[in-house]
Amino acid sequence: MTTLAGQHTAPSSSADFIALDEQWSTHNYHPLPVVIAEGEGASVTDVDGKTYLDFLSGYSALNFGHRHPALIAAATEQLGRVTLTSRAFHHDQLGLFCRELAELTGTEMVLPMNSGAEAVESAVKLARKWAYQVKGVPDGRAEIIVAGANFHGRTTTIVSFSTDETARADFGPFTPGFVTVKYGDAAALRDAITDHTAAVLLEPVQGEAGVVVPPAGYFAEVRSLCDEHGVLLVADEIQSGLARTGTVLALDHEGVRADVYTLGKALGGGIMPVSAVVGSRAVLGVLKPGEHGSTFGGNPLACAVGRAVIKLLATGEFQQRSAELGAHLHERLNALVGGGLAEVRGRGLWAGIDIAPGGPTGREASQSLAAAGVLCKETHDHTLRIAPPLVITQAELDRGIDAIEQAIRPA
Ligand SMILES: *Cc1c(COP(=O)(O)O)cnc(C)c1O
Repeated sequence: MTTLAGQHTAPSSSADFIALDEQWSTHNYHPLPVVIAEGEGASVTDVDGKTYLDFLSGYSALNFGHRHPALIAAATEQLGRVTLTSRAFHHDQLGLFCRELAELTGTEMVLPMNSGAEAVESAVKLARKWAYQVKGVPDGRAEIIVAGANFHGRTTTIVSFSTDETARADFGPFTPGFVTVKYGDAAALRDAITDHTAAVLLEPVQGEAGVVVPPAGYFAEVRSLCDEHGVLLVADEIQSGLARTGTVLALDHEGVRADVYTLGKALGGGIMPVSAVVGSRAVLGVLKPGEHGSTFGGNPLACAVGRAVIKLLATGEFQQRSAELGAHLHERLNALVGGGLAEVRGRGLWAGIDIAPGGPTGREASQSLAAAGVLCKETHDHTLRIAPPLVITQAELDRGIDAIEQAIRPA
């Protein structure tokens, strides 16, 4: 595409844009060959004018669909006032955002950050400080228990406790202080708890692992073990939270409260990165000025968008849509088990489906789905993850499921 030195012709076709990405952006992803130019609601349109149903929703960052009018209005309004102050000063959105988020989640305090990984890092720091200052763990000895097949983000500390070799290899040395147990196994957790255990960090549903729902009663047992041993329960709700499973928090399905929750993804309405740690004053209250921070965390624009997200969630409409459309999705997918599917997991409008042996790989199925106008993404070799925006209509959902039915057929 280069003509004279420093001069470029404008890219126009999908192939042009893909070539640009491949030459100039790092290859840390393996995207489907679709170049999106516009999005609205549950649909996106590519640079060639082809429209697709979005069955991934930016890994649940787009729970309210693309460019939800209430979110765009809130962002636009705030863009016309002030966007960044830094936390060196107060601004008129922060306290309101924190109060509204605490009220929505039934918590007492909010630590605003940006990305999900930063929220998890912040929760790790909070749990450690709490362990030293409140629980009395000897300095430098705090342990945090995590689950196998977890996904909590990509920082050096977080990949230190990943069990995915691809995510870890060549990124060491790793941060110590983490102990891994099998997800869903309360007895294994009991055996791993010591006097130095600060916290147990778990996803209420393991999204990246393939939308794995724990056995009934697991979280109730985790909660009572935490209570018995003075250990914090930290729930990573970055993907599972904010209506994706039919409730504000996925842990609500278990009738269990965590001490600390991490939120992200949909909290930014698909517009910008907004994350937060929310929880009890006893834990979040350990942070004092200068001990933790972020230049962009809790900025006015983020807070304004976050407040608009909270307002949508406060209506309950999206939780209800997830529950109702999710029941329909699971009913239709379960009907394929024993045919093209080996297993269906999930909760609400969120599913992980394992393609039966003899069928296409997850990647092949994603490619034929894209050709049929439905975008979703494989996780692992034979698993597809399905998470349409919660604004999708039942007719659109059925159209997508029809396409999935075709795409998983053995060749
Ligand atoms: C996506 C995700 C994260 C990391 O969020 P980023 O914004 O990508 O840093 C952490 N935990 C869970 C459960 C996630 O799904």
